Amino acid sequence: MLGLRTTPTKGPITMETAAPPLVELTGVNKHFGALHVLRDINLTVHKGEVLVVVGPSGSGKSTLCRAINRLETIDEGEIRVDGNPLPGEGRGLAKLRAEVGMVFQSFNLFAHKTVLDNVTLGPRKVRRASKKDAETEALALLRRVGVEDQARKMPAQLSGGQQQRVAIARALAMHPKVMLFDEPTSALDPEMVNEVLDAMVALTKEGMTMIVVTHEMGFARKAADRVVFMADGQIVEEADPDTFFTAPQSERAKDFLSKIL
Ligand code: ADP
Ligand code: MG
Repeated sequence: MLGLRTTPTKGPITMETAAPPLVELTGVNKHFGALHVLRDINLTVHKGEVLVVVGPSGSGKSTLCRAINRLETIDEGEIRVDGNPLPGEGRGLAKLRAEVGMVFQSFNLFAHKTVLDNVTLGPRKVRRASKKDAETEALALLRRVGVEDQARKMPAQLSGGQQQRVAIARALAMHPKVMLFDEPTSALDPEMVNEVLDAMVALTKEGMTMIVVTHEMGFARKAADRVVFMADGQIVEEADPDTFFTAPQSERAKDFLSKIL
């Protein structure tokens, strides 16, 4: 699909341009032993687009995210980020991990470091930012996600929703080109889900390119430019959110939606 919207806001696809996709998967296959977890995945995400990935547990959504960040290797096919094939080991990989920010279901903060240190560590190490510059930017990012007042605390002193917002700030501190979210609210108590989703919606409004795996259909309807439905390692359906939620085409998608909505 070559469709590319010209603005990051939700709306009809209006224009095609020659800009390369920010993320492009071509013929991607991945096995875990006998299990074929990613089957001929073709997917493009353009700058400013918000792609929401849904599908039953075990359908390969996390593996897809992890492959884009090269936390998993693939057996076949190609993944490009901003036009470049994924690097091997070494410095190229650190650069990729900076360009592709990732927020996981579990909060993954460094438990023995303060919130502020969690956010400044990457920029200082990878971007060689000065302590002062890294801290100034970290505080601004923490303010953006509403947890600036937690900066001097340890992660364990924060609620799950606060920790997840710190994780978002930490990824943003690397100046990513694209953000991946793998079920970022699934491990949260219900009353904390919205504060994290709100921070994500704010990011979409700033034009961030995002790939979001989530079961939060309200978020998908509100924020997605496109929804991809995966089942058994395949992309079964790809549509704009209104079409996907009101008129799913496949039996698998209908069945999935009937259980989740
Ligand atoms: P989802 O995120 O959609 O729930 P996953 O990508 O986590 O799906 O998993 C897809 C399939 O691959 C599942 O059957 C899962 O059990 C299997 N799987 C995931 N990671 C591994 C691994 N490291 N080793 C073996 N099997 C795995
Ligand atoms: Mg998963």
